[in-house]
Amino acid sequence: MAQAETIKNVDIAVVGGGASGFAASISAAEINKGIKIAILEKGQRTGRKILATGNGRCNLSNEDISISRYHGKNKEFALFALKKFDFEKTMEFFKEIGILPTSSEEGKVYPMSLQASSVVDMLRIRIKQLAIEEITEFDVTDISKKGAGFTLKSADGQTVSAKKVILCTGGKAAPEFGTDGSAYKLAQKLGHKLNATFPALVQLKCDVKRVRALKGVKLMGMATLLCDKKEIRKEHGEIMFTDYGLSGPPIFQLSRGASENLYKGNKNILVKIDLFPEYNYIDIENILFERRKNLSQVECEHFLNGMLNKQIARQILKESDENLKLNVLSGKLSDKTIKILANKMKNWEFEIIGTNSWKNAQVTAGGINTDDINEKTMESIKQKGLYFAGEILDIDGDCGGFNLQWAWSSGLLAGQSVAKSLEGKNDNF
Ligand SMILES: Cc1cc2nc3c(=O)[nH]c(=O)nc-3n(C[C@H](O)[C@H](O)[C@H](O)COP(=O)(O)OP(=O)(O)OC[C@H]3O[C@@H](n4cnc5c(N)ncnc54)[C@H](O)[C@@H]3O)c2cc1C
Repeated sequence: MAQAETIKNVDIAVVGGGASGFAASISAAEINKGIKIAILEKGQRTGRKILATGNGRCNLSNEDISISRYHGKNKEFALFALKKFDFEKTMEFFKEIGILPTSSEEGKVYPMSLQASSVVDMLRIRIKQLAIEEITEFDVTDISKKGAGFTLKSADGQTVSAKKVILCTGGKAAPEFGTDGSAYKLAQKLGHKLNATFPALVQLKCDVKRVRALKGVKLMGMATLLCDKKEIRKEHGEIMFTDYGLSGPPIFQLSRGASENLYKGNKNILVKIDLFPEYNYIDIENILFERRKNLSQVECEHFLNGMLNKQIARQILKESDENLKLNVLSGKLSDKTIKILANKMKNWEFEIIGTNSWKNAQVTAGGINTDDINEKTMESIKQKGLYFAGEILDIDGDCGGFNLQWAWSSGLLAGQSVAKSLEGKNDNF
């Protein structure tokens, strides 16, 4: 509903009340306590996506942050922010606001409370202490240059004037949290290019007929992504079958590569599952020949019992010999079938025909081209006074706390730079 136009003047307008918007506004206010900062958030509340992170526990960083865990057309862009606000500095930031970190065996870092809500609570308390204004239900639909500053307009006709703007509007993944990609046009209107976007950290789709019977089955294995027979990436961990395809942590890690290749129109994208990564093919073949001897009087249905999940065993047996009757005795399995079985256990292939939609994706691969942004300040090269942070940019990370770390690091850097620029200083770079 249209409302009367209200004009507010601020020094810094932070567009988007997510992880990077919180970090940017807090770091700006801490550097320069006198400046007026407003977070403009289109949702009814700020910090909604953070609440959903890490299955409600908020995997806020990782002990092993390195550029190799990041992706994008020019991922080196992220190096400066990730070094300036590295893991230690980020943990200091969290300790200062009252969040004590704890880490899992794989190096994933969580708040000690294991509650994402505590991260949002403490960030918002800090925001309040620093007198940063949160303006919710303010959907920024237009930003225009006005003299040395900017005018920001909302969908319902409100206006904010700001000396500086930090765009922290996220990407296209998980639109239920306000990130539907519509904010890219704000940057595009100000002269920025958008690199192709595709969903990442998302489930993969394969031939439904093959996987439907395995729905809900989980296994520990090594998943390898191949495109045109070329190995793209391999990941070990718990793989899960769903009624449309594959899910689980290793699949999430492979999904970016699959999604990018699907986007490019590449065919022949496969995920190969090694059900026994600790054994080589010959070991498995020998184990199966031995079993055929020992279990010769046992029906084929039970031939792999105790070695594999029963549903997987049945599926693999069916795929190894389509004429095989499961009530036939295992002693009757031919050498050829044993060899095919052994091969399937080491190289079980699934053709990838798609990814789940943006709705299910955790992160956006692609985004605003970083070539037009100064990586040392996060300021636009095209528009003085315009800054960027977080997932809106063409930088995305692996699953495991890397995306939030990028949001914190880039947000802290953008906030610090913009506050220094208001003081007329740029001596930190
Ligand atoms: C289910 C789920 C689980 C995840 N778990 C993890 C995890 O455990 N660890 C990890 O590292 N990463 C995780 N991620 C990814 C991580 O949450 C994001 O990469 C990170 O939140 C990005 O921060 P951001 O500030 O750039 O954008 P966001 O957090 O997406 O915030 C952007 C904000 O901008 C607002 N906005 C958008 N357009 C406008 C506009 N025009 N006007 C005003 N406001 C606007 C949106 O409403 C939103 O609040 C997860 C993501 C999802 C979806």
